[in-house]
Amino acid sequence: MAADRRLKYLEAIGIDLWVPRAASAAAAAAQPAPAPARNASVPVAPPAPSAGSAAGGDAAGIAARWETLRSQVLSCTRCPLHLTRTQGVLGVGPRRADWLVIGEAPGAEEDRRGEPFVGVAGQLLDAMLHAIGLDRRTNVYIANVLKSRPPGNRDPKPEEVAACLPYLLQQIELLQPKVILAVGRIAAQNLLGTQAPLGRLRGQVHRFGELNTPLVVTYHPAYLLRTPADKRKAWEDLKFARSVYQQLTQGAATDGHRT
Ligand code: SF4
Repeated sequence: MAADRRLKYLEAIGIDLWVPRAASAAAAAAQPAPAPARNASVPVAPPAPSAGSAAGGDAAGIAARWETLRSQVLSCTRCPLHLTRTQGVLGVGPRRADWLVIGEAPGAEEDRRGEPFVGVAGQLLDAMLHAIGLDRRTNVYIANVLKSRPPGNRDPKPEEVAACLPYLLQQIELLQPKVILAVGRIAAQNLLGTQAPLGRLRGQVHRFGELNTPLVVTYHPAYLLRTPADKRKAWEDLKFARSVYQQLTQGAATDGHRT
């Protein structure tokens, strides 16, 4: 990526490049170390292939399954959210992306346009992704735990998550991403089956699903818009996630926690 474009994206996510390295290191050292997650794995190993997974399917069959999934979501009545939504929002991005970003649920703008993360928070997410070389049009797929908007953007109810999760699991099986980035407390807690605060879930590699996919947690961009002081922590998370991906694709040895 051109240096000036990367600088622009870093500025958008609130990263000041003039911060002295020593001061940055001291601040990082002052942060408490995250507690090990029950599903943390050391070292990072590639996800296990699954028997009968999409990897072995033919392209036409996989495309057909995507279309079936899309129509199922658009016509879904599994939970009461279908009564208040404008449309179901499956996700966006290439269907063989190495990266999968998972948020909470569509907001008002996403509900209207049928695409996740398209409002102001979506613009910040795009800047965050661009800063580590990702783009929803080329190499990252973006989805939510819930495919329909909860009224008033309230938190998802457990029964809504339970009803909707099979769609996300199908997406993951079809995508077979190398890394999942869970953005926000709601997504992280629901995916990891924990009530632990987001601060304790950051900075480590979790594992998700049958494919044992590495999962890294960071803040939701809507939260970062309200709390810009935490953008620097989000930047640390993104760099950590990028290092996890590089380990998987380049075979570098490291442990499962951020250094
Ligand atoms: S949130 Fe999920 S389960 Fe509920 S109606 Fe929408 S697509 Fe169906």
